[in-house]
Amino acid sequence: MSTTDTVETHEFQAEVSRLLHMMVRSVYSDTEIFLRELISNASDACDRLRYAALTDDSLLDGEADFRITVALDAGGRTITISDNGIGMDRDDLIAHLGTIARSGTANFMEQLTGDAQKDVSLIGQFGVGFYSAFMVADHVDVVSRKAGTQDAFKWSSDGQGGYTIEPADRGARGTDITLHIREGETESAFLDINRLRQIVTTYSDHIGFPIHLSEAKDGVVDEEESVNKGSALWTRSKSDVTEEQYTEFYRHVGHAFDEPAVTLHYRAEGMIEYSAVLFVPETQPMDLFDPARKPRVKLYVKRVFITDDTGELIPGYLRFLRGVIDSEDLPLNISREMLQNNPVVARIRKAVTGRVLSALEDKAKKEPEAFDKIWNAFGPVIKEGLYEDAERREPLLNLVRFRSTASDGWTSLEGYVSRMKEGQDAIYYVSASDPDAARNSPHLEGFASRGIEVLLFSDPVDDFWLSMVDAFDDKPFKSVTQGAADLSTLGETDASDETPATETDALIAALKEALGDAVADIRTTD
Ligand code: ADP
Ligand code: MG
Repeated sequence: MSTTDTVETHEFQAEVSRLLHMMVRSVYSDTEIFLRELISNASDACDRLRYAALTDDSLLDGEADFRITVALDAGGRTITISDNGIGMDRDDLIAHLGTIARSGTANFMEQLTGDAQKDVSLIGQFGVGFYSAFMVADHVDVVSRKAGTQDAFKWSSDGQGGYTIEPADRGARGTDITLHIREGETESAFLDINRLRQIVTTYSDHIGFPIHLSEAKDGVVDEEESVNKGSALWTRSKSDVTEEQYTEFYRHVGHAFDEPAVTLHYRAEGMIEYSAVLFVPETQPMDLFDPARKPRVKLYVKRVFITDDTGELIPGYLRFLRGVIDSEDLPLNISREMLQNNPVVARIRKAVTGRVLSALEDKAKKEPEAFDKIWNAFGPVIKEGLYEDAERREPLLNLVRFRSTASDGWTSLEGYVSRMKEGQDAIYYVSASDPDAARNSPHLEGFASRGIEVLLFSDPVDDFWLSMVDAFDDKPFKSVTQGAADLSTLGETDASDETPATETDALIAALKEALGDAVADIRTTD
């Protein structure tokens, strides 16, 4: 950092530089998403101030009507996204717009290959957030004033390695992000109010704050009415929400870029009242197995955002869920700490878990192929539920899928049981570090020759739940090493699979001759 008068110069964190470099150079097809990202951030900023004001309403300074404005100045080649949310002070600007704090960043960086095509799809999974502004702008200015403070600061960057910070003026709290649109055909196309309106209605209709469009022409600013509905999506009825709107909402609340694989939207009434819009993502997030990862479902109370640190609200084995739960029963002034041991929270958690598991079971029944994809992404996490949540063991045992010697795909335990041989009273499995090693285990021979199916366990979590779960459908789980003794009672080997003894003898003789002293003995097994 160096200081000339009051202008400080900072360098981007190395990760940010790499991300920016890639974003600007690679031909990212969806450049218009920059607007949804910036509006999403503006909406988060309003949410966060509304929450902070619950305990300190002086932060609002008499201005409680939150709003977002997208202002176009085609002549000046700028688009400015403004909000009257929580704002950022100098330290916030440095921390939030100069580094990537998100968990999974290190993992993400490791996976980058330098191959533009592959990296673009990775960025798609990771999300680009604020930095997406540089896909269309060659210079970005952020002027912000944090709620409860008097000083404003300007952050300014061309996205090429560093940024500057200096004192600025802003009449009230909030943030203005001004994009100086690059001189290029695709970029220039954004300098059109109709285009901006279309992008906002496509991507940001679900935002719970009014979004106004304004256009500066010949020195006159023309401001339009709000272009979005401005009501929180989960308060609408299902029939009023299109699939595209659910997808955009998922991307906003989940900070995600893929499509939801399952969407669950309902309102619970009765003992406890809450609305929920929950999504199972399509792809595995980078930090799914990061011990620090917490569930990412946002908790609202009566439409006011409370927290997205919802470890209490969603069990760990469903930590891949994204979405919103809005409670009518919790007090508005609930602090994050108070969520622990709160009976209402415990009830919501129980009810939501049940709903999600039945939605997954339903998916498995109606769209088995789609469910297999979900299982590919989240199976090892869902299996954690088998030892964490004794109460849900039964539905979970119906849900779990395994690799098996019977086929290349996934099988359910029910499927396994239906294929059990006459006289077989156990579910056999083999454990190994990966499915191929399991499939090639020498212990499988005797089972294979008798046509007995064996499940292939290769997730580390399998060892844990096996110690807690004895049986499925009264059939105990038995490892093939323990089960070897059962083989004699499980009937004759399948004659068609068996190699005639004389052929085996001949093979052994030939092998012995070929290998000579290199082996002590060659024997057959079952
Ligand atoms: P994400 O939204 O996933 O956290 P972003 O790159 O979009 O990541 O934004 C980075 C951070 O910058 C945000 O988490 C927030 O702290 C801060 N930020 C961005 N835009 C605003 C804004 N308009 N008002 C206040 N803070 C903001
Ligand atoms: Mg964001």
